[in-house]
Amino acid sequence: MATGSSGSSRSPSPRRRPPEVSVLRVGHRPGRDPRLTTHLALAARAFGAQRMYLHPADLGLAERISAVGRRWGTGFEVVSVDDWKSVVRSFPGAVVHLTMYGLPLERCLPRLARQKRLLLVVGGAKVPPELYRLATFNVAVGHQPHSEVAAVAVTLERLLGIPPPVRAGGAPHRIVPSARGKRVVGSGGGR
Ligand code: SAM
Repeated sequence: MATGSSGSSRSPSPRRRPPEVSVLRVGHRPGRDPRLTTHLALAARAFGAQRMYLHPADLGLAERISAVGRRWGTGFEVVSVDDWKSVVRSFPGAVVHLTMYGLPLERCLPRLARQKRLLLVVGGAKVPPELYRLATFNVAVGHQPHSEVAAVAVTLERLLGIPPPVRAGGAPHRIVPSARGKRVVGSGGGR
């Protein structure tokens, strides 16, 4: 007896595992814009990236972000690098340069989502021109200038979604979403 319209016996394809995402921030200016790069690392961590390569190195910033990880979980790390090009060249996956001049994110998303590993590269005040050539994809999050934090956050949200309010790996506590006030459960309380 026919049971379906297609007659196919194929089982549905298993859900694809989302890509593992790293971020590379080039053009950081230690001492000049620590808040901006700190916010970039915090957004990358909160929206599911595994690590952020930082050029040039800033050990103080790396330590501040690992202190956040000790309180709020995830194994996110900031890796200081002396040579951003070698990170791009040796990355074992697709290199996605986020730039307002690139192809629209919505158009690129299906191809990005199929990759095993992605390196999202964002610039600072100036972007080295070679980056456009070295990247696998040049991708725009809208075609207006905004910020590296916004570009990374929107791209991660489109790729991985917004994480639910569960205890992140290794965290001593978690937030209980509340209509008013602050509720944190687990050892040690909140910040
Ligand atoms: N004038 C700079 C340039 O050459 O692109 C703009 C720098 S912007 C302040 C800092 C970084 O934010 C850029 O290097 C890029 O990675 C990211 N960015 C800004 N607007 C973007 C957009 N519309 N789409 C994707 N990335 C963007």
